[in-house]
Amino acid sequence: MSRWQARTTGGARVAIVGRPNVGKSTLVNRIAGRRDAIVQEKPGVTRDRSTHAAEWIGRDFTLIDTGGWTPGWAPDRTTMDELVSLQAEIATTEADLVLFVVDATVGITSEDEAVAKWLRTSGIPVMLIANKADTLSEVETASVLGELYALGLGDPTTMSALHGHGSGDLLDEVVTRLRDSGAFDRPPETDDGVPGIALIGRPNVGKSSLFNRLVGQDRVIVDEVPGTTRDPIDTLLDVQRDDGEVRTYRFIDTAGLRKKTAKLDSTEFYSTVRTRKTLERASVALLLLDSAQSIGEQEQRLAREIIDSGRAVVLVQNKWDLVDTDRRLAIAKERDRLLQFLDFAPTRRISALTGRSVSKLFGDIDRVLDAWNFRVPTGRLNQWLSDAVAATPPPLGRNHRPVKIRYVTQVDTQPPRFKLFTNQRLEPAYLRYLERRLRERFGFDGTPLRLDTAIRTNWEDRDPT
Ligand code: GDP
Ligand code: GDP
Repeated sequence: MSRWQARTTGGARVAIVGRPNVGKSTLVNRIAGRRDAIVQEKPGVTRDRSTHAAEWIGRDFTLIDTGGWTPGWAPDRTTMDELVSLQAEIATTEADLVLFVVDATVGITSEDEAVAKWLRTSGIPVMLIANKADTLSEVETASVLGELYALGLGDPTTMSALHGHGSGDLLDEVVTRLRDSGAFDRPPETDDGVPGIALIGRPNVGKSSLFNRLVGQDRVIVDEVPGTTRDPIDTLLDVQRDDGEVRTYRFIDTAGLRKKTAKLDSTEFYSTVRTRKTLERASVALLLLDSAQSIGEQEQRLAREIIDSGRAVVLVQNKWDLVDTDRRLAIAKERDRLLQFLDFAPTRRISALTGRSVSKLFGDIDRVLDAWNFRVPTGRLNQWLSDAVAATPPPLGRNHRPVKIRYVTQVDTQPPRFKLFTNQRLEPAYLRYLERRLRERFGFDGTPLRLDTAIRTNWEDRDPT
């Protein structure tokens, strides 16, 4: 299929941390049962964070290989100590369980001790794994286990990621821990890979007319609703593109749009609750405006609902056939003034009545979906951060102390979510500045972005300043 392949990753998340060369990639391969994690033969090669779908005795979870610990991974971090704690920190903000891997043939290093210290204070469940046990005698194993107990992270598990000894026991334990902590209760991020599209707008803006236009296009095949979708009120559209490829979209909550007679009472149909429910199942919202009418509070409210829901959005100015030049100028001004917070959304001017530009909406939908799913590689992201901070540093913080942003990582997509590691709170105005710069550098047309901060005061103590 296309780029919207089903995401089959579970809702429970397991992060793997450890020094380079201890066998993290090998372990990922073993657990995920795939060859997609890159095993590096030599240490010191920068590897980015990667996620992998895993399954054991019918339980799905996501494995996160945090990468890291090599120079160049976090450009502003100089000491190994900083790199180490940062990696542990990222793992603990993202995961329900951390697998801390050490090399049994090497024993405990000072870096391992530093990670253990972080993990002990984080409160996150940790499993300590002594890997490469296949190369040790019983006596040697016993001696390493003694060192490992001293880390204060509970019973270590010995295993061989390479040959598989101990991996079944390890996975049993992982699943037990995840179940006990309630991590499986979170809904899995699984769907059928078909993006949901919601038509949002006040009554009489032209939603029914647009929907009927869309399903009436030459190259659109409509899947009969009963039996083809889990939810009978949706409609699947197979759209053939210029290059011959067929893409499928699920238009959400279309029962009331297909036939005039089936329309629900408008106050109920367009209520906030209904909008929210529709958005919940959607990936993209098409926010319709009536170009002949002023933008009002209702449009503002709907736009905010969409942003809050984290869905991608295309602004659709319908009834373009009705507007003259004066009105065209006026609506652009109204938009800038009243929907300024939606300025990242692309605009399409259409007429559902005449069919003008209606088919172009599929391209718009693809474009905002790409942005919604986009992940910026960590190296590029941190390079961007250095540039953005150099261009405009954050204002002084508490007690006139400088605010330092140490690192940024993209922790999620749909919508893209970023975590900034700082020593102090960042002003909302500065976060808005960073969001603007992110959009300038990476695009992100039509998707809301989320920027969160993780404040770590102990970095401040370590600063020479
Ligand atoms: P990472 O840097 O922590 O991801 O480590 P890798 O997975 O790239 O492994 C580093 C090296 O250790 C590779 O040459 C692996 O083949 C080897 N290795 C990994 N696990 C084991 C194991 O259980 N036993 C042995 N003998 N070698 C292993
Ligand atoms: P809904 O309530 O949002 O589903 O709106 P409808 O699709 O029922 O449209 C409301 C009215 O606007 C109907 O009379 C439509 O014929 C008319 N309408 C819809 N789209 C257009 C358009 O692009 N141009 C013009 N002139 N009228 C339109």
